[in-house]
Amino acid sequence: MAQPAVPPTQAAAPSPAALPVPHRVPVREILPWAVFALVLGAALLYFVGAEQGATSLVGGTWVHEFTHDGRHLLGFPCH
Ligand SMILES: [Zn+2]
Repeated sequence: MAQPAVPPTQAAAPSPAALPVPHRVPVREILPWAVFALVLGAALLYFVGAEQGATSLVGGTWVHEFTHDGRHLLGFPCH
């Protein structure tokens, strides 16, 4: 009778060195980017959704006209 080349107990379990180790990202590295994305998103949401009429920060209607299609796309009231 022929014996298998690798004993069954060693073939079933991979060695710990071959397992992938997930890369951990510390919260301290994510936090500034999360705050930046939040501020940028809030500014974008303001300019698309509320930059008109009494809440307007920029004179004229060019910001309103520039974001007009996005306003309708996102369902903000316009006209
Ligand atoms: Zn409109």
